Amino acid sequence: SDKTWCGRVLSEHDKVLKDYGNLTCLTRFPPEPNGYLHIGHAKSMFLNFNYAKQHNGKTILRFDDTNPEKENVEFVESIKADVHWMGHEIFKTTFTSSYFPRLYAIAVEFIKAGLAYVDDQTDADMKLYRGTKPDGTQCEPRDPPCRFNSIETNLREFQRMKDGFYREGERTLRLKIDMRHANPTMRDPVAYRIKFCEHHRTGTEWCIYPSYDFSHCLIDSFEDITHSMCTLEFQIRQIVYNYVTERAKVYLPMQWEFNRLNLTQTVMSKRKLLQLVTDKHVRGWDDPRMPTIRGLRRRGFTPAALNALCAAAGVTRSDSQTIRASLLERCVREDLDASAPRAFAVVSPVKVVIENFAELLATHPDSATVEGDAIICTHPLKVTADTYTERLTSELFIEESDFMATPTKGFLRLFPGGSVGLRFGPTIQLAKEGAVFTEGGMTVLRVTGVWGATPSKFIHWVSAADAVPAEVRLYGPLFEDEKPDLSDGWEKRLNPDSLVVKRGYVSRFVAETARIEGHYQFERLGFFVVDKDTVMTKGKVTSLVVNRTVGLRDSFK
Ligand code: ATP
Ligand code: MG
Ligand code: MG
Repeated sequence: SDKTWCGRVLSEHDKVLKDYGNLTCLTRFPPEPNGYLHIGHAKSMFLNFNYAKQHNGKTILRFDDTNPEKENVEFVESIKADVHWMGHEIFKTTFTSSYFPRLYAIAVEFIKAGLAYVDDQTDADMKLYRGTKPDGTQCEPRDPPCRFNSIETNLREFQRMKDGFYREGERTLRLKIDMRHANPTMRDPVAYRIKFCEHHRTGTEWCIYPSYDFSHCLIDSFEDITHSMCTLEFQIRQIVYNYVTERAKVYLPMQWEFNRLNLTQTVMSKRKLLQLVTDKHVRGWDDPRMPTIRGLRRRGFTPAALNALCAAAGVTRSDSQTIRASLLERCVREDLDASAPRAFAVVSPVKVVIENFAELLATHPDSATVEGDAIICTHPLKVTADTYTERLTSELFIEESDFMATPTKGFLRLFPGGSVGLRFGPTIQLAKEGAVFTEGGMTVLRVTGVWGATPSKFIHWVSAADAVPAEVRLYGPLFEDEKPDLSDGWEKRLNPDSLVVKRGYVSRFVAETARIEGHYQFERLGFFVVDKDTVMTKGKVTSLVVNRTVGLRDSFK
């Protein structure tokens, strides 16, 4: 005998899950293809794909494409690629638009059963009749006059809507539920609206498009979704979801709500992200400052780090969940710490000339490491037991911040009259006077090297003879405010220093091993990733661009 639920036969649903390989769970991730996926979607993906995976289930990627004016194929393709990059396995890819004929047929059935009617009210009147005056105060709800039209009239009018007889906004199809229902979403919600806009999949076939309230529940049911997860703002609409599936006499999926994930010092809604792109506040959807999956990827975040963040954030039902950017940074640091090779790079170079270099070579305590005009230093990769070699030559670049012409109190690195250790190499001393020059706009320090000293600090360096120039892009938060969304004019409070570009140098090892999206830890500077703007010729770097993913310590407030 057939199992039923709310009077509906479940055997068909069970059969489908059986055909799919005896699944006990089927979830869906339903993005609208109107923008690129962001870190909030990473949470939704994490929940939908992981829940299914852990419960003998699978996950459908469903494009919820009912607003043709904002959607396009570029977004569809980018979303597919991002889901894949995040490491999720897509069971099937579907589109709400594929169900347009089936939804239309159900709408006609609803009209025939007296459950829907064509209305001519404007948005403003609809709101007023639902019980909200233009000034926002409440009033008595009223039945719209069209509510009492005959089934024949409604059938004819709906056909006219479909045939393009009316202009946008002139008619809607509404569900005839209850204009005085305590839950305002039940006050005759809109099921179809008119839109004269070419759809990226159905072209000009349709000029009426189903609403979320009418389509989402039915398609969850058509697709035999067992657990339909959505963000909390839809909780109030659950009653409509249940109503529509019940009246359509189709299987009712279980619904679960979770809260939206937000990040500090950025915006998350696709509308605002789009505005950042179109107003050229950022260089595109994949700008490394963007909270999009593409942006985070280009910044050097890994799928493991983003999924770890979602796991750490967890699922709660409190209204909002604002994750501090520092938690995201910690997740990526942990992941890259285990995998990124260590190397030297200098972001803001000053030049060091070791004047007695020949003497240093001759007196090296381990003469086996001297090769020609260089000292061969063994640099541990740390990720594995492997090492590589770095040549220390007479001319080096060191970090500008490791030198002070007039040292502040407690500054222990290089200053006139002071000394500092070069990692893997000698200690260098800077004379009190006459050793600091400027050449071609760059500071040059003429130093003396000694072996056997015990400096209090060691600094990193790159050989001027071997190092490869690199454009180094350093990032800060997009916004200074913790929650820029909360106030008007959010787009005017951008952090002017969210991108700082430096002309630096990386060690030969980096240039030789670089590939787009390859990660490194530049010692004392942070984790970096090779940007796609890098130019490679025959597998060799000819112009290197690196992005700082994250510093070694928390940089956010
Ligand atoms: P946006 O305001 O960014 O356009 P949306 O909810 O309209 O968000 P969709 O593309 O429809 O975006 O979202 C696809 C899925 O991802 C939905 O299930 C949605 O609830 C979920 N989602 C979107 N943003 C977030 C977020 N910030 N946190 C968690 N889940 C989210
Ligand atoms: Mg949506
Ligand atoms: Mg949206």
